[in-house]
Amino acid sequence: MTEKLVYGNIGSQKAMHLEETYGAHNYHPLPVVIARGQGAKVWDPEGNEYFDFLSAYSAVNQGHCHPRIIQALVEQAQILTLTSRAFFNNKLGEYEKFITDFFGYEMVLPMNTGVEAVETAMKLARKWGYMEKGIPENEALLVFCEQNFHGRTLASVSASTDPESYGDYGPFLPGIEKIPYDDVPALENILAEKGDSIAAFIVEPIQGEAGVNVPQEGYIRRSYDLCKKYNVLFIADEVQTGIARTGRLIACEWEGVHPDVLLLGKAISGGVLPVSAVLSSREIMLVIKPGQHGSTFGGFPLACAVAQAALEVIRDERLTEKAEHLGWIFRDAMQKIDSPLIEKVRGKGLLNAIVIKPTGDIKAWDVCLKLKDNGLLAKPTHEHIIRFAPPLVISEDELNKAIAIIKNTIENLA
Ligand SMILES: *Cc1c(COP(=O)(O)O)cnc(C)c1O
Repeated sequence: MTEKLVYGNIGSQKAMHLEETYGAHNYHPLPVVIARGQGAKVWDPEGNEYFDFLSAYSAVNQGHCHPRIIQALVEQAQILTLTSRAFFNNKLGEYEKFITDFFGYEMVLPMNTGVEAVETAMKLARKWGYMEKGIPENEALLVFCEQNFHGRTLASVSASTDPESYGDYGPFLPGIEKIPYDDVPALENILAEKGDSIAAFIVEPIQGEAGVNVPQEGYIRRSYDLCKKYNVLFIADEVQTGIARTGRLIACEWEGVHPDVLLLGKAISGGVLPVSAVLSSREIMLVIKPGQHGSTFGGFPLACAVAQAALEVIRDERLTEKAEHLGWIFRDAMQKIDSPLIEKVRGKGLLNAIVIKPTGDIKAWDVCLKLKDNGLLAKPTHEHIIRFAPPLVISEDELNKAIAIIKNTIENLA
């Protein structure tokens, strides 16, 4: 208890105790307290250093406290932070032009959290279904994939097939269909059967929370083509996969697909503020008229300044190319680890996972605890999968050090 503190004035034990006592228990964190972050590294209050291989679920692609993003934050915070959308402001339009150019869309609807982007897309798709496609009132269907993760609101968990996410939260939103992921015939069947009532297919190009489920090559392209055939919107939830993470600006680019509606969140702000976006064409976006959807904070001037800086960092530091290059190095190194613990290595760019053999005594959680003791933070998804997603600013030298930690940890566990 007398251990000297390096960062802040509350030690790890006390910080954990306070969260346990006064905070709702809706998370099960790894027992580590982070007090400072810089680039690809974080430190606990006692000054121990760790590689961050979660990046706040891919929100911190640009690295912790990126100086250029923090500068934009501080400068804008001293001038204007929030106006609401009752008035115009002098940052929103500039940002809207920037982000639509950046991703190749005509219009953006700015929101805050990732799940609000999903929620917005569900509303947009239904309205488009009624106004443009001619679906009879209250009959629109939205197609989702099993094992998806689209956030925590009632609309999103209504689409979930994970009992942890939806259990005891019913009754659920109607008008939702669920089909297996990475299954083109399943999509084709439901489109053939109910296509006239289907407004949209909402899909993650790689299922992040499910354990970095990478679909077979061609899945996204063929799904998109089927949606076109049946006049159904193809909506990509790239809240986790977007913004350079997978070695492309958005993961759909791997298959040359430009989604009708693109959902972004997390790394838009480099982990500085909650910022999300729904991008689409004028034709689709303008089905929502003034007063029909909104958010007090959505598109606030502070977010606009921060998000623009964060996207400029992606472009100017060539983080997309970097993610692709380092991703090859990482997976190659993981594949070379000689351990009976590892069943599989998968991923794209710097969104990767190793699957721990589910039959053994050692669970992903145990591996993550050992990794932490050895100076690397990662989080299990499900019982036996560990996701590895460092900030994209990590240097090749740092990556190699991190690889050595993972290799030693796993080899010493088995
Ligand atoms: C994280 C995530 C969301 C939800 O984002 P929040 O900001 O937590 O609301 C939605 N979709 C995907 C694919 C995600 O990874």
